[in-house]
Amino acid sequence: MLGLMQQQTLLISDMIEFAEKHHGDTEVISRRVEGDIHRSNWATIAARARQVANGLDQWKIAQGDRVATLAWNGYRHLELYFGVSGSGRVLHTLNPRLHPEQITWIVNHAEDTVLCFDLSFLPIVQKIHQDCKTVKHWVAMCDPDKLPSDSGIPHLVSYESWMGQQSHQYAWPALDENTASCMCYTSGTTGNPKAALYSHRSTLLHAYACALPDVMCLSARDSILPVVPMFHVNAWGLPYSAAMVGAKLVFPGAALDGKSVYELLESEKVTLAAGVPTVWQMLLAHLKSGGLRFSHLTRTVIGGSACPPAMIQAFNDEYGVEVLHAWGMTELSPLGTLCTLKNKHLALPAAEQMKIRLKQGRAIFGIDFKIVDDQGKEQPNDGKAYGDLLVKGPWVIKAYFKQEGASPLQDGWFPTGDVATVDPDGFLQITDRSKDVIKSGGEWISSIDVENIAMAHADVAMAACIGMPHPKWDERPIVVVVKKADAKVGRDELLKFYEGKIAKWQIPDDVVFVESIPLGATGKMLKTRLREQLAGYQLPA
Ligand code: AMP
Repeated sequence: MLGLMQQQTLLISDMIEFAEKHHGDTEVISRRVEGDIHRSNWATIAARARQVANGLDQWKIAQGDRVATLAWNGYRHLELYFGVSGSGRVLHTLNPRLHPEQITWIVNHAEDTVLCFDLSFLPIVQKIHQDCKTVKHWVAMCDPDKLPSDSGIPHLVSYESWMGQQSHQYAWPALDENTASCMCYTSGTTGNPKAALYSHRSTLLHAYACALPDVMCLSARDSILPVVPMFHVNAWGLPYSAAMVGAKLVFPGAALDGKSVYELLESEKVTLAAGVPTVWQMLLAHLKSGGLRFSHLTRTVIGGSACPPAMIQAFNDEYGVEVLHAWGMTELSPLGTLCTLKNKHLALPAAEQMKIRLKQGRAIFGIDFKIVDDQGKEQPNDGKAYGDLLVKGPWVIKAYFKQEGASPLQDGWFPTGDVATVDPDGFLQITDRSKDVIKSGGEWISSIDVENIAMAHADVAMAACIGMPHPKWDERPIVVVVKKADAKVGRDELLKFYEGKIAKWQIPDDVVFVESIPLGATGKMLKTRLREQLAGYQLPA
C-alpha cells in the first residue's frame, strides 16, 4: 500500500521562495569588491534571482546549460546561485585561484555559455576569453558606471544593466528534482580536474543535513559568515542552508585578512563562521596582537584540511568559541562528518573532550562510511585500525561529469582517497590522503599527527610531514616547517618537542625549515610540489 502524502519535488527554488516568504526582512550583508558594505535581505535577493532567471531566458540559455561564475562571496553571487539553478540551468563555480590555463581548460570542458565575474578577476578574463570557445556572454558583476570601457572583452555587459532591466516576476519551473543544479571541479592536484555535478535533490538534502543540531545547528537566530568560498563546493552549502532556516548571511568579499574578517564578525553580530584553518590563523593572530575578544561568535566550522589542535584550543580556551571540526570533499557536496560530542562525553574532563574534538567527527544522517584494507575487507571501529575510507549517500557522486561510463564506485561505495580510523563511538579520524601515507618498517605513520604536534609549538606557523625513502625502513618521516616571524626554534629543539607526544619511531628523522609551503587553489598543502622542491634531499645518516 502506498502512503497518501503529497509528492513534492525538492528544488533549489523552494529554498529561496521560503526565505523570501518567511524571512524576507532578514539581512544579507556583503563587503563589496569596491570596499563598501552593501545591505540586502532575502526578499530582495529572491526578487533579483528572478531577474537573473529572466535575463537568462532573454539570452535563450537552454535548460541544463552551464552558467559560470568567477566571484567572491557576495550578494550578486548569491542571486546567481538561486537564479541560475532555480531556472533549470547549471551553476558552475570557477576557482579564481587556479592558473588561467586551468580555468580555460575547465570552462571548455564544462562548455560554459555565460561567465559572470567580479571585477577583481578582470585580468583573468582578459587572459582567457579568446580561448573560451563556448562562452557567448561575459558579465561583469558591477554597476554600469564601473564597467571598464577598454576591457577588450567583446559585448561585455554589467550585471546590473543586464539583469536590472528584467522583470521581478518569474514562475520557477517545476523541474525533476534530479535535474543537475550546480557543478564544481575537484582541486585536481594530479591529472586534469574532474567535475562533481550536483542535483537539486542532493543539494537540498545536504542543506537540510548541514542545518541539523548535531551538525552546524543553524537557525533563524544565526548570523552566518562563510569565509569558505562560494567558488569552491558552494561554500559548504551555507547559502542554501541559510535560506532554508532564514538565517542572516554576511559575506566577506575579497577581504579575508584577520582585521577585515574580525570587523565584520563584530559589526554584523556573527554567531557562526566557517572556513579552512589558514584563514583562522590570520584571524587569531589579529585577535592576539590587538588583545581583542569576540562579542557574538559562538562557533566556527573548520574543515577542508585537518584543524591543528592548537587552533581548536585557542578558540575554545582563550575565546570561548566552539570549534566544529568537519570533513568533506567536492564529491560529497561537500560535508561528510562533523565533530560534536555525545551526551556521554559531557562528563569527561576537558582534556578528554579535547581528544574527541580533534577528530573529524561522526557521520551525518544520510552519509554512511566504512574503512577497508587493501583487499577491501572492512576494518574494525576500534580507533586504531587504519583503512581506506569509503562513503555513500544521497549527496555523494556516482560518476564524474562526462565520465558517466566509468563509475569510480566500489560496490556502490565511493573511495575517498583518504585514510582514516573510526573509534567505537563512530568518530572518524583522518590520518592521511592515501598517497601521503608514510610506511616505516611496515607500520603506518600519520602525517597529520606529526604536523599537528609541530603546529602546537609556539614558533611554528605551518608544518608538512612527508615520507623520504630509507634503505632500511622503506620510508621515514621528515617535517617541513615555516617558522613564525622572528621565531628562533631550531631543528633539535623541535625534534625534542615530539618526545612523549608520539611513539619514538614516529618522531620525524629531520626538520627542514623553509620560507613557505606550496598551497593549492583551495588552500591545501601541495605535498607533490613540496616533494619536487625537496628533490635531492638526503635523510641524516
Ligand atoms: P576538496 O575536494 O578540495 O574539498 O578536498 C577534499 C579533501 O580535503 C579530503 O579528501 C581530505 O583529504 C581533505 N580534508 C577535508 N577536510 C578535512 C579535515 N577536516 N581533516 C583532514 N583532511 C580534510
